[in-house]
Formats: sequence, C-alpha cells, structure tokens
Amino acid sequence: EQLDRVCIVGSGNWGSAIAKLVGRNCKRLDHFESTVNMWVFEEMVKDEDGADRKLTEIINTRHENVKYLPGIQLPKNVVAVPDLANACEDATLLIFVLPHQFLPKLLPIVKTNAHPSCRGVSLIKGLDFDQESKLPVLISKSIEDAMGPYFQCGVLMGANVASEVAMGQMCESTLASKFGPPADELTRLVFDSPNFRVQHIDDVGGAEACGALKNIIALGAGFVDGLGLGGNTKAALLRIGLQEMAKFCRMFFDDVKDSTFMQSCGMADLITTCYGGRNRRCAEAFAKKMQTVGDSLESDYKACEEIWEDIEAELLNGQKLQGTLTAKEVYDVLEAREALDEFPLIRNIFEISYMGKPIESIVEGIVVSGNRA
Ligand code: NAD
Ligand code: 13P
Ligand code: CA
Repeated sequence: EQLDRVCIVGSGNWGSAIAKLVGRNCKRLDHFESTVNMWVFEEMVKDEDGADRKLTEIINTRHENVKYLPGIQLPKNVVAVPDLANACEDATLLIFVLPHQFLPKLLPIVKTNAHPSCRGVSLIKGLDFDQESKLPVLISKSIEDAMGPYFQCGVLMGANVASEVAMGQMCESTLASKFGPPADELTRLVFDSPNFRVQHIDDVGGAEACGALKNIIALGAGFVDGLGLGGNTKAALLRIGLQEMAKFCRMFFDDVKDSTFMQSCGMADLITTCYGGRNRRCAEAFAKKMQTVGDSLESDYKACEEIWEDIEAELLNGQKLQGTLTAKEVYDVLEAREALDEFPLIRNIFEISYMGKPIESIVEGIVVSGNRA
C-alpha cells in the first residue's frame, strides 16, 4: 500500500490551526507518512528576543507560528518549508488553505511537483469570477482546471473559527468530496478528531459556495453590531442571509442539495462567523468609522477600498479578509445577470461597503424578496 504524503499549502491563521490537527493525525495513522510539509510564504518576523528571523526558522525551532497563530504548539512532524516546489514534491494529498487571491500563481508550481496521482482538499472560503461568461467559479474547480484532467479537489468547510479549533474546543466540520472509496474516508480521517468532528457529504459545490457566501453576510452582521442593534436584528439578518445563500447556490451551481444548508458548512458556519469571525469584526469597525465620518461619507469605490485595507491592517496583523473581495465578485456576477433585485441583502452589504450607502440601510436589506424567499 502506498502511504499518503500530505502537503499543506498555506500557513496563516487557519492553515496553522489545521496543521495542528493534520500533523497529529498523520503521526498517529498508519496510512499517512508522518512528516507533513507546510508551505510558508516566507517573511521576516520579530522574535521574542527582538531579533528579526525568518518565519520558517521560528516555526521549525519553536514549533509555533508566532505571527498567525501565536500561543499554539504545532506538532514537531509539521515542517515549515519556504520553497513551494520542495514543499509539495511527490505529495499525494494537497491541502489548500490560503487567501484565494494568492492561489493562481502558485498552482503551476504545485502541478509540476506533486505526485501524478495526487488529490486535493480546499479549505479556502472564496469564489472566482469568470470575466468572459460572467459566472462564478468554485475555487475547487479552478484548482482542478489548473492541476489537470485527473486531479480531483474536495473541500473542508464548517463552523471553524481557527483560534477556537486551535485551542481544541469541540466543533464540527464538513468534508465534501467525490473521490470515492477509500479516498473519501481516508481524507476525512486526516482531519477528524474527537473535538473536530468531520462529516462527509458529496455536495462539493453547495458546501464551498456556502463557505464563501457566509463571509458576505458576516459583513452585514458587523454593520448590525456597529449600529448597536441586538440579537433579534442579527437573527433576521442570518435568516434572510441563509435564504440568499441558498438562492445564489441554486442559480449558479448544479446539484446543490437542501441538506447541505443544515450541515456545519451551512447554517452553523454562518452563525459562528456572524458572531466570532474576522469579517464581522472588521465590518463593525468599518461601521463605527463611517458613522464618525458622518456627512463627509466616502462614496467612491477606491476610497472605501482604502478604508477596508486600513482596518484590515490595523486589526488583523497580516491576516486577510475574504468577505469584501467575495462581496465584490458576487455583486459583479449578480449585476451582469441583472439579478441584484433578487438579493437585497447581499446588494445592500456591497453598496454599504463600497458605494457610500449609509450603514443604517443594512436593515432595508433584511427583506424577503423573489419567489423563493
Ligand atoms: P490568513 O488570513 O491568516 O492569511 C494570511 C496568509 O497569507 C499568511 O499565511 C501569509 O503568509 C499569506 N500571504 C500573504 N501574502 C502572500 C502572498 N503574496 N502570497 C502567498 N501568501 C501570502 O489565512 P487563513 O486564516 O489561513 O485563511 C485561509 C483561508 O481559510 C481563507 O479562505 C479563509 O476564509 C479560510 N478560513 C479561515 C478561518 C479562520 O478562522 N481564520 C476559518 C475557516 C476558513
Ligand atoms: P472569518 O474569516 O470571518 O474569521 O471567518 C472564519 C470562518 O470561516 C469560520 O468558519
Ligand atoms: Ca503515520
């Protein structure tokens, strides 16, 4: 039997948290090679003694990603590798976990170095947008297209705020894949643990689209919080948000199952992100900033983009927001389809985020619309 060789492509907040679980499982399980390479986008980081050191050196000596997941010990069999070609050499299972804007330029390198029989799992919560067809494209599909005809990519999506997972707090997660036996179960086992309970489904499109879309709704949750509105308003936002997510899935992706919305990747991820996520937190800060700016409210796209970038830099220390980028991609798709009216919440969230619409108008987006709502 050929052992699976795992490479984690990415090492941010979630990448490092999942490395803890995957590293532990690969050491424990016979089917996997113990050593897990983790590709790290190299940067210089201030170490505890005040000296500047390479992040990979710090990870490989102290077994802690001091920048993106401080305070959490990583298993010693997780090895930080700065060179992507080395990191994924002969890998048979690739775990993609990085902000989606960085992915395209990496894939050609992964393709030429991974094992020919390799498969993948994407933990990336985002969507691509095809300029020509004006249609949304799943990141897992973009990965498959770049990796060649035999490559299959599943997704792991769920209510998994990284810091909580890293601390070992109990949660669930959804693996969606169509590898067939035994690869579906082996892949589930590389993530599963008593406090990280992974359920397998085969609806890749539904699971992945939910993971991307809930980040947009989470911006709305931050606006609600920034206005000082309470649990009732947020519950209404979650309800309408889930409906728009489902409507978007049915409009653009084939074979999405209703049951997917009840999995961890559906409703549960929406809830946790709207309470404890980074998108929510930055959107709350955006709401407060815009309210103080008052009459001189910025209405131009570029100016709004700068405000978001400032907030991201100020609050997240190098981590990246995905909701703002996804909101723009989804807005463009809906505009091209002349379907914006059917998505009043997503539309409002984008227009507040980038077009100077007042924060208060978030509640105007929390309305039933279209034939399915
Ligand atoms: P993060 O937000 O911590 O992102 C920063 C990462 O991007 C760092 O590893 C950094 O080194 C890297 N980076 C910066 N510039 C780069 C460049 N030019 N090229 C390549 N890499 C570069 O990352 P994350 O939290 O691991 O998020 C990855 C994905 O996982 C996202 O799609 C996110 O939505 C999703 N996700 C995150 C969480 C969470 O709680 N953090 C949970 C579930 C899913
Ligand atoms: P944020 O990126 O908003 O923190 O969401 C994290 C997440 O996806 C939790 O499942
Ligand atoms: Ca092993």
